[in-house]
Amino acid sequence: MRWPLPSAPYDDEILSSYLARAAFRHRLPPTVFAAQWWPDRPVWNRDLDRGEETAWLADLAGRAGLTLERVQAMTLDALRRRFGRGSGDTPLILSAGIFHRTRVRHAVQICPRCLADGEPYVRRAWRYSFVLACPSCMTLLRDACPHCEAAIVPHRSYRWRLDACHACGLDLAHRDPHPAVVPPAALDLQARLLAVLANDPGTTVGPWEGDDAFSGLRALVTVARHPDVLPALRAALGLDAAAISAGRFERMRAGNRAVILETVGHWLSDWPNRFFVAAGSAGLTQRSFRKVAQPGDLALQILRLPEGFARDRTFVPVLQDRVLKRLRRQNRAGYRRVRATRLLAATDPRR
Ligand SMILES: [Zn+2]
Ligand SMILES: [Zn+2]
Repeated sequence: MRWPLPSAPYDDEILSSYLARAAFRHRLPPTVFAAQWWPDRPVWNRDLDRGEETAWLADLAGRAGLTLERVQAMTLDALRRRFGRGSGDTPLILSAGIFHRTRVRHAVQICPRCLADGEPYVRRAWRYSFVLACPSCMTLLRDACPHCEAAIVPHRSYRWRLDACHACGLDLAHRDPHPAVVPPAALDLQARLLAVLANDPGTTVGPWEGDDAFSGLRALVTVARHPDVLPALRAALGLDAAAISAGRFERMRAGNRAVILETVGHWLSDWPNRFFVAAGSAGLTQRSFRKVAQPGDLALQILRLPEGFARDRTFVPVLQDRVLKRLRRQNRAGYRRVRATRLLAATDPRR
């Protein structure tokens, strides 16, 4: 059965925003609306924007009078493929950290200006962790209510408006917000990554074209955000000292992400010269990159760094294995010969 009052999704609207608006249109809170149409399904107890369950999306499409493809296009599914799926948090998508109906992290960013322009709705691009400024109007995105600092959870708004804070009820939207400064290197990186997403030909991010840019960026983020590395790397790149709190990039507040993206943006510029020089001055070695992806030319540049591996101290018994012990009992001459050969081999510097 179809919803009595179906509505069309807006451009780049994310599914949770669409579903919340559908509920408000039917004069119901989103939880009640969802329970009415899917009584056996805890719709809001998960990050439904991940778009993992095709059967449910198809059911929703039928009730909304949309195609399954149109509904899937509102989810983050295609992006999760391009950013590289991991278990748990998807790389480069802000993590909702849903605990029952509560969101423990600041996973939704909003543009106060765009939210004030027409019917408020939430854009997919605001969930990307590398997006700090609104792609449409370049206003600084907010990841918390400016009045009470609560995380933004639009579908829980008790005023039944996506532009009202769910905690204090005050307006999140603002027609003329104060301009805030985003580091230019972070903005440049954001613009390039969005151009890659839009399949804009000829876009490069450091050494990468195409989706390698996402795995490459994520790799450098992992290395750069390490508390032992960030200060040295920023100093090597001529950037101000900046402290950030530890944690996964996808769970960081916007201010911390800005510091990391600025650092990585500078690190990637003038590839590969800056990368190599700054990595050297920051004391990075091949070992620093051993746990991250190394797409394209990154692998080659890492190989130019010192190895940094600790000496292999694995103990390999040269003389005490079972064969030699048996030989010792049975054939003393043979034992001495094998023992001598093994000792020589073990001390051979070419080994
Ligand atoms: Zn905007
Ligand atoms: Zn608030």
